[in-house]
Amino acid sequence: MTASEARYRSLFEQASDGIFYLSPNFRILAVNESFARMHGYSVEEMQGIDLHDLDSPETARLMPDRMRRVLSGENIQFEVEHFHKDGHVFPLSVSTGLVSTTEGQHILAFHRDITARVQAEKALRETQELQSLFVRHSPIFTYIKEVTPTEDRLLQASDNLYELIGVPTTEILTGKTMEELFTSDFAAKISADDRAVVVKGEVLKLDEDLNGRHYTTIKFPLVMGEKTLLAGYTIDITERKEAEAVMRESETRFRVFVEQSPVAIGVFSLDGIGMYANQKYVETMGMRSVEELVGRPASELFAPKHREESKERTRRRLMGLPVPSEYESVALRANGSEFPIHLSVAPIQLPSGAAILTFLTDLTERYRAEEDRIARELAERANRAKSDFISRMSHELRTPLNAILGFAQLLEMDELRPNQERSVSQINKSGRHLLNLINQVLDIARIEAGKLHLSPEAVRLEAVVREALELIRPLAEARGISLRLEAAFSPGLYVMADHQSLRQVLLNLLSNAVKYNREGGEINVTTSLVGDGRLRLRIRDSGEGITQDKMERLFVPFERLGKETVEQEGTGLGLALSKGLVEAMGGRIGAESVPGEGSVFWLELELVAERQKEAIMAEVDEHLSDGMREGRGLVLYVEDNLANVQLVEAVIERLPGVTLITAMRGGLAMDLAKEHHPDLILLDLQLPDMHGSEVLGRLKADPATQKTPVVILSADALPEHMTDLLAQGARAFLTKPIDVKEFLKVVEESLNERTDE
Ligand code: ADP
Repeated sequence: MTASEARYRSLFEQASDGIFYLSPNFRILAVNESFARMHGYSVEEMQGIDLHDLDSPETARLMPDRMRRVLSGENIQFEVEHFHKDGHVFPLSVSTGLVSTTEGQHILAFHRDITARVQAEKALRETQELQSLFVRHSPIFTYIKEVTPTEDRLLQASDNLYELIGVPTTEILTGKTMEELFTSDFAAKISADDRAVVVKGEVLKLDEDLNGRHYTTIKFPLVMGEKTLLAGYTIDITERKEAEAVMRESETRFRVFVEQSPVAIGVFSLDGIGMYANQKYVETMGMRSVEELVGRPASELFAPKHREESKERTRRRLMGLPVPSEYESVALRANGSEFPIHLSVAPIQLPSGAAILTFLTDLTERYRAEEDRIARELAERANRAKSDFISRMSHELRTPLNAILGFAQLLEMDELRPNQERSVSQINKSGRHLLNLINQVLDIARIEAGKLHLSPEAVRLEAVVREALELIRPLAEARGISLRLEAAFSPGLYVMADHQSLRQVLLNLLSNAVKYNREGGEINVTTSLVGDGRLRLRIRDSGEGITQDKMERLFVPFERLGKETVEQEGTGLGLALSKGLVEAMGGRIGAESVPGEGSVFWLELELVAERQKEAIMAEVDEHLSDGMREGRGLVLYVEDNLANVQLVEAVIERLPGVTLITAMRGGLAMDLAKEHHPDLILLDLQLPDMHGSEVLGRLKADPATQKTPVVILSADALPEHMTDLLAQGARAFLTKPIDVKEFLKVVEESLNERTDE
């Protein structure tokens, strides 16, 4: 054996790869030590073994083809599986080719045991599979994306993503871009977020809404060698959010209940330290804010005299002893004033521990009302006693007076000397006056004692007025005074009154109008409708009038206001009695006077409801001009008093071409004015949301409504107000109660103007 042969031999025997030689007809010529060891045999044992017996069935199937390639001269590499001596199968990698030796051609093959590599590969495959299963079945929406500057593609995703995106599970999500999965706006937003994560390498947390549900998402970069992928988790938090919203809503509701409660509510700790109070409590205690209560001992909220009681209650509470749940006491306001209170107290359990809930009521008003009631009762009792006394007295006086008058009349029938006759007539006259006085005193006493029971009923006013006028006419004619009735009574004009008493009042007022008139003067009687469903009757005379300083004593009993010594007979009781009667009928009475020109005595009575409208119609018809009857236009009435609205509605109803729209609030009025361009706006001043002057200001400031005439209709008729409003651009100022005649005139003027344009 040559040296080189020996060298090759030892290479063959000691090589770490397992080597064998095979004759072209697949007989093993030689195996080395490594090959035998790999298979669990010694070199000797291997000599007898057929190579095919080592091949696993799968390897055996592939072998013939491989050998054909080797025999054709190819050097090839492949993997095989061999049986180990102990029976297990293990993997080997094989490099093989033909070699030519002196003994001819042989197959030479190098084997390497690759068990370790194959196992590692299998483990890796399993891990990968596990991860992919983990992702696919995650109950949290999970995904991995590949994000490039131009594309944002899904690589892997949990199966539930189908449901999130809303696509059928038959579609394949993997490989899809965001544009293919979402609407373009939403996709653009996702991709922008994704790029930020990948480029900046930061974790991104965000809340998103999709198809009406709420999600929270975490996205983070996944660095894989050169590449950075994006991984993300998305959790559906709709239920949580909804529960939170419900919770918030109910909390807000309760906070509002407590905060805006009309009852003063305060909460104190068990040891009596202020914790919370609502707005009403803060107001009642005169505090600026709830801060003034928090941390303060409850005892300081009581008047000094009542502090010990409060401390005692706290002590008892802490010791678990019973404490009254309701009591009255005296509280101390922030400004130092004291006021009576009622407290209702209940223990409550707060999350922070036990506490005391108190309801506080300010008793000031109740006490005052009680005091007023007692004072009123005392006054009434005194008044009744006085009235009783007067009525007893009057009765007692009437008996002897009857005798005096009776005997005086008997005397009158006798033959008397002229001076005796004058005396008897004086006795008679004074006696009658006294009787009249006593009768009126009795009436007043009866009214004051509340013993006058009137039963007002629907009375036809016209009949009573005409009756009274006829009774007074001779008196008036005797003084050359003209009596005129200028009222238009509709047949349906009824008022609530007591017939007898109303007649008495009218006679009283008319006889005064005659008595205190000048010779040859005049009296006229008029009526008008008043906004709140009432009728006002005025008796105007042309006497010397009443000075302002006397006006307020006009209805006081026995006040004759300087007429005591004047020739007109009187008791000073007529007006007092009239006032009592009118008020007992539910009406009102009053007077206005211009000294030197005359006086107006008026009385207001309630119109009988179903006849009210007819009365208005009649009055409108009386004053309606032909032009008006045909006029057309749109009127906006801004007024919050329903009775006034009804009155104006009834008037406008009489004007067939005129339409009325109404607004109860200033804000609405401005909207309607802009929308409908009325031809006239009637504006009340006392509106619930703003003062009428502000509405006027805004109407005049807005180019859309600037030109619309605005007429103020208000009971608030101070001269300076009128001038201010007229200066602000109001067309006219009508005072309430509305005078139908004047009202129609203004409406007519404004509407005519429009037609002229
Ligand atoms: P009498 O007429 O009996 O004095 P009244 O109560 O009717 O009593 O009137 C009270 C006073 O009011 C009268 O005395 C008179 O001074 C004044 N008075 C009443 N009516 C008129 C009137 N029409 N014009 C002026 N003064 C009047």
